[in-house]
Amino acid sequence: MQQETNFKAGFVTLVGKPNVGKSTLLNKLVGEKITIVSPRPQTTRNIIKGIITFKEAQIIFVDTPGLIETEKAPTPVDKKIIEETLMGMEGVDVVVFVADEREPSPEDFFIMEHLKKIKKPVILCVNKLDKIKQQKALHLIETYKKHFSFNVCIPISAKRGSNLSILVGEIINFLPFHPPYYSSDTITDQMERVLVAELIREKIFELTRQEIPYSVMTKVEEFTERSDNLIYISATIYVEHSSQKGIIIGKKGSMIKKIGQLARREIENRLGCRIYLDLRVGVKKNWRKNIESLKEIGFDKIK
Ligand code: GDP
Ligand code: MG
Repeated sequence: MQQETNFKAGFVTLVGKPNVGKSTLLNKLVGEKITIVSPRPQTTRNIIKGIITFKEAQIIFVDTPGLIETEKAPTPVDKKIIEETLMGMEGVDVVVFVADEREPSPEDFFIMEHLKKIKKPVILCVNKLDKIKQQKALHLIETYKKHFSFNVCIPISAKRGSNLSILVGEIINFLPFHPPYYSSDTITDQMERVLVAELIREKIFELTRQEIPYSVMTKVEEFTERSDNLIYISATIYVEHSSQKGIIIGKKGSMIKKIGQLARREIENRLGCRIYLDLRVGVKKNWRKNIESLKEIGFDKIK
């Protein structure tokens, strides 16, 4: 491995309150190259969102979900999520803190407080530069810097792609020397299941507009290759109340049908093969408050 010592590779997470543009940024950075791969053993908690591999470096973006929601409702599960998020951050090499054109809010301060506990390089990105004057961006950076000593601060526009090459350069700058962790074709069943569960959840939120974080959970029960180009997937959507079950099923099953159609299309695109998707809805009362029940439905694997 001596010849690999010039290569840099590591794990990066994007944090920030909702709506600042994290997903837009990630999509812009990894774009169509998004691959779902098996995590290294130390970071099984993290969901790999995408990988960019250059000639001399590999950046692996991981998700550490749940930082914001935890602030408001400190149930045991929320506490667990906070702990996991922080532990997840322990496993990363660089943190990118994303803010937008607004003045910092309590949510931003909350995240920055947590960042102080993990001794990792943190890059500040003030996003949506296309919406504001340069002067305002510089003012925001100065304001953020009063609350946290960022290693680097970059004004960016995820939408237009402005300054993203500077961002990538800075990320690589802070990565350790390490051989690449993944070849681009490592795909495992477990990560595919996580992806499928996430995509179904995404469609539920899109279609029902019920943005209730963590109150809907999907579990992939079966994932079987039936023939050369067909995968059978069955999944259960767990909700907390029977009223939510009604919303998800819809009139004469119209909503669940729609969720299934959209999710199937997207899963087929991502996996590159035909799938048969079997969806069910189940009610598990107060499962958020009950960690054991979470384990039962596989929360520790599928987040
Ligand atoms: P997330 O919640 O942090 O993942 O934020 P999203 O990526 O979903 O973006 C939230 C909203 O901000 C969306 O409407 C995006 O189109 C918008 N957005 C993201 N980046 C930019 C940007 O650079 N400029 C502008 N004007 N809008 C942006
Ligand atoms: Mg997002």
